[in-house]
Amino acid sequence: MENELLSVSQSSIAQALATDYFCIYYVNVQNNKFIEYSASPEYKALGLPTTGDDLISFARTNFEEFIYPDDRERFLERFSKENVLRSLDQFGTFTMTFRMMFSAEPTYVHLKVTRMIEKEVRHAVIGISSIDEQMKAKEAFERTHHASITYSKVAQALAGDFFSIYVVEPDTGRFIEYSATKEYDRLGVEKAGEDFFNISRTNMARLICDDDRERFLGTFYKEKVMSILERDGSFTMKYRLMFGNTPVWVSMKATLLEDENGRHLIIGTNNIDAQMKREIEYQQHMAEAKTNARNDFLANMSHDIRTPMNAIIGYTNIARSHSDDPETVSNALEKIGSSSHFLLSLINDILDISKIESGKMQLNYAPCDLGDIFRRIEDITTLQAKDKSLLISYRHDSVQHFKVNSDELRIEQVLVNIISNAIKYTPAGKTVDLIAEEKHVKDNWYSYRFIVKDTGIGISEKYLPHIFESFTREEKTTINRIQGTGLGLAITAKIVELMGGTISVKSREGEGSEFVVELELEALEKVHTEKDSQNHSFDLSGCRILLVEDNDINAEIADMILTQYGIDVERAENGQIGLEQVQRHGRGYYDAVLMDIQMPVMNGYEAARKIRDLEGECYKTLPIIAMSANAYDEDVKECLAAGMNTHLAKPFNPGDLLNVLQAQIRNHLR
Ligand code: ADP
Repeated sequence: MENELLSVSQSSIAQALATDYFCIYYVNVQNNKFIEYSASPEYKALGLPTTGDDLISFARTNFEEFIYPDDRERFLERFSKENVLRSLDQFGTFTMTFRMMFSAEPTYVHLKVTRMIEKEVRHAVIGISSIDEQMKAKEAFERTHHASITYSKVAQALAGDFFSIYVVEPDTGRFIEYSATKEYDRLGVEKAGEDFFNISRTNMARLICDDDRERFLGTFYKEKVMSILERDGSFTMKYRLMFGNTPVWVSMKATLLEDENGRHLIIGTNNIDAQMKREIEYQQHMAEAKTNARNDFLANMSHDIRTPMNAIIGYTNIARSHSDDPETVSNALEKIGSSSHFLLSLINDILDISKIESGKMQLNYAPCDLGDIFRRIEDITTLQAKDKSLLISYRHDSVQHFKVNSDELRIEQVLVNIISNAIKYTPAGKTVDLIAEEKHVKDNWYSYRFIVKDTGIGISEKYLPHIFESFTREEKTTINRIQGTGLGLAITAKIVELMGGTISVKSREGEGSEFVVELELEALEKVHTEKDSQNHSFDLSGCRILLVEDNDINAEIADMILTQYGIDVERAENGQIGLEQVQRHGRGYYDAVLMDIQMPVMNGYEAARKIRDLEGECYKTLPIIAMSANAYDEDVKECLAAGMNTHLAKPFNPGDLLNVLQAQIRNHLR
């Protein structure tokens, strides 16, 4: 079978194909001599010579007579030697459509010149075929689909923006070109036909930029396009078409129309080259800016982390080499303490900023008490102000509704940040005031204003617009060697924004600053009955605590703090051992469990769950306190979900540990 097929000569194949054409000529491009290869009876009837010296002038002079008068001028303009050669060089083909008069009625024909190289001589084949049926169908199609003159005028006007517009019947695949620009015409693609998707794929495989071909062919096929259209109503795709050697960005948009004439696809392609180039430039610019920002961030980080680390290591060495000089040791320990504290707040700020920037910061709304927040802020900041001999005052007389629905931790963080700044940037003897006010908005919604006023160094006009940007600090604060990172206010502003509030600042250099935060919050109770602040102190001596911790240093620190208060500490090196100890000693032996989270063999979550699952009520109520360096809200939630009572973030100070233990053990004993 194969042999038999191979024996069919190429010329018989060519002859079979030639029957689709009115005429086919074969031209030597070097000397322009031509010969007629085949001609149909109607064409023969025109009586034209079958060979000649110059095909282009032969066609221009002889065809003129047989071309439909309306198309003559356009034929002569386009079918010039110059145009044909340029098109052959750029695209490998030259095509044009016009009408010929074989009888009294004009017939639409398609002329196609294709370049070929044979035995190193450049040849071209010229064929003229009938596209009469398709074009008449197109006219009929236009008559039915563009019956309204306004509609077609509007469409024509809009079509000017497109390289090409096709109307396709998706069910049959029949298509016609509605409009096309001259440049698009030169690509030599069909103007009408059947099987739109496959024809387009074949054309695009030839015309599309190499880098976009695979993506185009992988997406632009009937089933996929139709399913997207049915889902979204439209389909768009951007790719580069090759106009000669020049890639041009285009955007193709297909829209599905359904009316009394049936379903139609309108497919328009337009030139978006300039826009895409601008967009690509912008993306590159943004990518560069991002890299620069990341580099700046790392440079800042490395400097800001190294500074306190340097102090910690330096003073540790000093303390070690002066162990016989208590005053130097105590001074060194104080510096180590303040540098560690700074390092910790820096790390917390970095975590907050990275959460904010990746859009992952979430607020935890829950009932909270502004009265408690004010009390805690007073506790923290009164000490700070006292250390600096500042006069600090708190006023919230006009606040009536203290119980609100909000994120308690974040409100506290915002206010502590601003007040700590006011204290930090205000010299001794001057004043810092916090005023809280409330105004009714509607129903049980109130607008709370928190005003922090200081009479400190103030902020320059030049720096003020940048005050809420990350890593910016005013030069004078760095010169005065006031410690800071320039992250606090960036975080503060972001949290306020997340809460739907506003933050503003007024300042005059040398006179002071005023920060105002406004938050609209939902009040939960009509009037606040201020609770007496309870004294949490509770004697823990004699209590027995199980410390489940794999890290020896951390275990030693916790052990030393706890034994100082007369607490009995037993240690388990991982969750598995902890679980066994709790089970072995049974009811009432331990007063509480301090549970690390990340441990080998069995982690803290699993150990807590297994303790809760043990048989007996005592295991359900035994206080289990997570002690973990994973301090994100999700981590805290996970601890609670595993059955633990509360969470203490590492590193902690002794006071925090004792407070938590006192509260939990007292609750348990109640
Ligand atoms: P940090 O205090 O860690 O440097 P912040 O983001 O909290 O960072 O503040 C940014 C800068 O704004 C500070 O470095 C300081 O120059 C200026 N600033 C903030 N609050 C005040 C204030 N109350 N008075 C004067 N300057 C302030």
